[in-house]
Amino acid sequence: MELTVDELVVWMNKFADKVSENKQYLSDLDTPIGDGDHGFNMDRGMTAVKEKLADKPADLPTGFRTIAMALISTVGGASGPLYGTAFLEMFKKSSSTNDVGELLEAALAGIEKRGGAKPGDKTMVDVWNALVPEVKNGTLTRDKIQEAVEATKDMVAKKGRASYLGERSVGHIDPGSQSSGYLFETLLDAEGK
Ligand code: ADP
Ligand code: MG
Repeated sequence: MELTVDELVVWMNKFADKVSENKQYLSDLDTPIGDGDHGFNMDRGMTAVKEKLADKPADLPTGFRTIAMALISTVGGASGPLYGTAFLEMFKKSSSTNDVGELLEAALAGIEKRGGAKPGDKTMVDVWNALVPEVKNGTLTRDKIQEAVEATKDMVAKKGRASYLGERSVGHIDPGSQSSGYLFETLLDAEGK
């Protein structure tokens, strides 16, 4: 699917609202296996993104760059630089394509490079890795998103704060995977699916 700058703005506003509605839940997920701040971190970042996008960006690359800068400067924690990297990579890629699958694929490569996590390490990489191919194929559904998020529950964390708990991280959904799930869900919302 080809993404326009208007759709990007709609997508980000929906993502910001979803994060805001669920900020307590995201932080609750981060409490047993982290430090309980993920929802508040993401809400701070996405509130800043929404404010910045109120001035409509001139084009898709400008939109991605604005989002990346706002996230990097406000989110903090591990997730700030990772989401920031994702949007910076989409900024770079958007000079040559506006295919959302290709953009998200570039973002995933950036997250993996930046954080060093692999699929199975119980991080947001698990959700991105499962869902980017679905976006590329045009087969993304809400059920697949839910499934990818839930799948992190049984994993042992190998990266990030949760990895300090080792086996005790099992039985909890990864908070960054849940927020990434919202990113993919709101992409479907923005596409009217
Ligand atoms: P912090 O862990 O610094 O408190 P957050 O709570 O905002 O930051 O974000 C935690 C989330 O970041 C985790 O749930 C996980 O999905 C993601 N994360 C942490 N480390 C990595 C990593 N190395 N690679 C990919 N994602 C990571
Ligand atoms: Mg945290």
